[in-house]
Amino acid sequence: MSFLFDLMNIAANQLNSNSKPLKESENIAFTPSLDTVQQVDINEREFRRASQSKSERWTLRTPTKRDIVARLERVSAEDGLRLKQCCSAFRVLTCGTHPLRSYPTFRCKKLFCPDCAAERATRLGNQTEAKIREVMKTTKGRLCLLTLTTKNAATLDGGLVKLKKSFANFKRKKVFKEHIKGYFGAFEYTFNPKTNDFHIHLHLIVLRGKFWNQSDISDAWRDVTGDSFIVDIREIKNTHKGVKEVCKYPMKPADLMEMPDDKFLEVVKMKKGTRMFVSGGCFYNVKLDDDDAADDNIFSQFADLTEGDACPFCGDELFDVLVNRQQHIGLHELGSMPNVVKNNSS
Ligand SMILES: [Zn+2]
Ligand SMILES: [Zn+2]
Repeated sequence: MSFLFDLMNIAANQLNSNSKPLKESENIAFTPSLDTVQQVDINEREFRRASQSKSERWTLRTPTKRDIVARLERVSAEDGLRLKQCCSAFRVLTCGTHPLRSYPTFRCKKLFCPDCAAERATRLGNQTEAKIREVMKTTKGRLCLLTLTTKNAATLDGGLVKLKKSFANFKRKKVFKEHIKGYFGAFEYTFNPKTNDFHIHLHLIVLRGKFWNQSDISDAWRDVTGDSFIVDIREIKNTHKGVKEVCKYPMKPADLMEMPDDKFLEVVKMKKGTRMFVSGGCFYNVKLDDDDAADDNIFSQFADLTEGDACPFCGDELFDVLVNRQQHIGLHELGSMPNVVKNNSS
């Protein structure tokens, strides 16, 4: 109902506005009507709120990104430039009022890039949650968050190899198979500036059959690691939050800034394609394509819209504009883009 109401309001406002004159033929083709406008169950108020929060997220990441770029430029000019260019310009699909879809013209896809890490966390989180919910329809068990830790490591690579090897042995143990029906997980790194080493751990979402208490898990984990026994298991009450915990940033930007140059470079130069996820059992099919960076859409319903389509809110024709990072933040802040003029509307 409110969508229709908003639509009528917009249509009425447009009659009084001559800010964007249209050719007569265009005017007829894109007059809002229920036949030409794609139906979405999002009203204008929801759209504005989501747009505002998108703007806040990009604003929040901007100073962090600037700091990392500045530091990276000092140790590796080439990597610094790539990071600087990442998400510095955007293509936005808009009717002139509603910024519906946007995508950066270039993404570095580095794990330490605050923009790309956030995009990845959101995308992987959504994919994972959908797949886990699907599996849970047919497989019974308790969804738990299991965290496995290892002793601090001097190098990231060395620590990661050790943790991966330990987990490979752990999941082969009889006691693991007896309790865990499926698992999906991601590695996370933190850095301790006092001891100058990395703390690497594995967050797993597991589907637990039989109850498995923490001290037994700890004993089994010590068996395979030899020296590490700190584990944590807790039931996941909210699947969305649980998945988010696992799919979050692999490393906090604050940690990155506290590293001495050699450690900082080690993270920056980490091999592309270093495997960050593990999965098995009933969650074996929770496979994630980590190569594909998605658009930064506010609503997935807009993902199929393209130039020439009608705006779902006002019915105006959609077109692409190129904006810089600051403009991109600004137009989402308003939830509208009054100053953007269609390039080819002479
Ligand atoms: Zn990036
Ligand atoms: Zn519109």
